[in-house]
Amino acid sequence: MSAIDLAGLATASQAEVIRQMQVCNACRYCEGLCAVFPAMELRRDFSGGDVDYLANLCHSCGACHYDCQYAPPHDFAVNVPAAMTDLREESYARYAWPAFAAGFFEKNGMWVTMLSALAVAGFIAGFVAWSEPDLLFAAGDEPGAFYRIMPHTWMAGLFGAVFLFAIGAMIAGLVRFWRSSGKTEDLSAASLWQAMWDAGRLTHLDGGGMGCMNESERPSDRRRLYHHFTFYGFLLCLASTASGTLLHYGFDWQAPYPFWSPTVLLGTVGGLGLVVGPVGLMVEKSRRDPALRGAADMSGMGTAFLWMLILVSVTGLALLALRATSAMGLLLALHLGFVFALFLSMPYGKFVHGLYRFAALVRHAHEQRRP
Ligand code: SF4
Ligand code: SF4
Repeated sequence: MSAIDLAGLATASQAEVIRQMQVCNACRYCEGLCAVFPAMELRRDFSGGDVDYLANLCHSCGACHYDCQYAPPHDFAVNVPAAMTDLREESYARYAWPAFAAGFFEKNGMWVTMLSALAVAGFIAGFVAWSEPDLLFAAGDEPGAFYRIMPHTWMAGLFGAVFLFAIGAMIAGLVRFWRSSGKTEDLSAASLWQAMWDAGRLTHLDGGGMGCMNESERPSDRRRLYHHFTFYGFLLCLASTASGTLLHYGFDWQAPYPFWSPTVLLGTVGGLGLVVGPVGLMVEKSRRDPALRGAADMSGMGTAFLWMLILVSVTGLALLALRATSAMGLLLALHLGFVFALFLSMPYGKFVHGLYRFAALVRHAHEQRRP
């Protein structure tokens, strides 16, 4: 086994994954379990960017840990899922843009996100209460009722600006991650399609066909199922927002929309998925075998992201159910506050794992197709 050159690496987590990959590259017992081992076998030496790529290719299914003859108490102390988890979480901050914002959220993710949500909700409700106190508790769900609380131009301007900022910051992070993980020439449509297929099915979360191992070596598909609820729920909510924008600008319809409208139907189904999925993932996380967790714990941006999804969904569904009552004004302010905080925190936390994992799947599909 060659010595590890720490001088070229950013962190000890990268050095630890390199050490373990060198053991695995000699052993290769797990090569059929997931995409990580075939990608590892294409490399003899590993740069920091290489292991960041492998860490984001790992789906943390746990299978290789329970199969490993070199796991602790063996002196080699190989624990690939834990080492990959630590490095993956660290990589979100490494590639984030601007870097100072990542550090701010990384240390106080939960507090920063909650406080920004409540600050925006408080500002909206406070402004209405100060300018036209009767409006805050006025009942009514006729078209345009939401814009009595916050004029549409303000809403579109504020949320459009924070959304565009989040998209720009995430693209900047994604480009940094992609560049650091290696060069890619002749990227084909087939590789992109393969990556979309693997991301949509979570192909590599199945422990090589047995299922994901979470609290013990008994496999199950629960983590995969809750990831699917979360992912497709999020896509349906995005489709709901897009359909609302189309109705507003294309057909001059004003929110709130009727229950049968595509905006409400897509938002309701997506919102339910965004409650069931994140709650399920939090339960699975709390049951996870401590040996698989690494040093990453339940605090910080991972948990903050799941809480944000739940709170955006719950306040959205409550707004839908109670929009004809005097609670509408406060619920709208709360819902908008949580949506704002979700957008603001997206580039600096767990949300980017979907983007980096997709980029890693594209690179993996490309490498496997290369002659
Ligand atoms: S995880 Fe263990 S058993 Fe699997 S390839 Fe690595 S060293 Fe071998
Ligand atoms: S934890 Fe699962 S996905 Fe990650 S390297 Fe091991 S087998 Fe592959």
